[in-house]
Amino acid sequence: MRFSSLGSGSRGNALIVESNQTRILIDCGVTLRALSEGLARLDLSTESIDAVFITHEHGDHIKGLKSLARQCSMPLYMTHGTAIKSGLDHLPQMNILNHFTPVVVGDLLVQPVTVPHDAREPCQFVISNQPASGQQAKKLGVLTDLGSYTPHIIESYQDCDAMILECNYDESMLQNGPYPISLKQRVKGNWGHLSNGQAADLLSKLQHQNIQWLVVAHISQKNNQASLACEAIKAIFPHHDRMRVADQDNGFDWLEIA
Ligand SMILES: [Zn+2]
Ligand SMILES: [Zn+2]
Repeated sequence: MRFSSLGSGSRGNALIVESNQTRILIDCGVTLRALSEGLARLDLSTESIDAVFITHEHGDHIKGLKSLARQCSMPLYMTHGTAIKSGLDHLPQMNILNHFTPVVVGDLLVQPVTVPHDAREPCQFVISNQPASGQQAKKLGVLTDLGSYTPHIIESYQDCDAMILECNYDESMLQNGPYPISLKQRVKGNWGHLSNGQAADLLSKLQHQNIQWLVVAHISQKNNQASLACEAIKAIFPHHDRMRVADQDNGFDWLEIA
């Protein structure tokens, strides 16, 4: 199993996950043109995507989705609340996700996980492959856009082989930064985003010995710096060679889970 991002942050998110037989897109928060260009850099086309999973209806996660759905007929998966709120519930390729039921697409199993975030019915995903007999399944945890973490989240993200983890803001940069007070309160509230410190705290509660790749993601360009996020995470996960930072415009290149 391997994964690559075409962009991560409040201006747009899109993640490709592929196994031997299956390729899925998680969120389509970039324009269709940017998606096509990003895929072309990976030698892929939009037609090669088997299914699209959407975490929630905020613009940085669905910007290009309508155009993609008009052009391609692959199935779309999202919760009922996300489908209604994004105005896409009428699409023929829509499949409604239930938070308790994983979805199988080819040889990938996608488990939605409920998260506290100020959207209608947001979720994040834990993705496992179903390998040939004799080999162990691998587990990729994708976790961004959450204001706090819950016992359910701690349980769901145990023992990942790779993890994409939101480190949205540095507490003091947000406090002293340019956002109006109402927006500062939204970001740091329980239904906003995860700070560097909260991300490190959450990581300390997870079995993370098997993590081959830890990607610091959804970094705020105004209220954080990659170096501060990495510093916070390194206190818990001191493996510089296994850490990556997801860039807003370029995401990150393929990371293979061995
Ligand atoms: Zn977001
Ligand atoms: Zn959001």
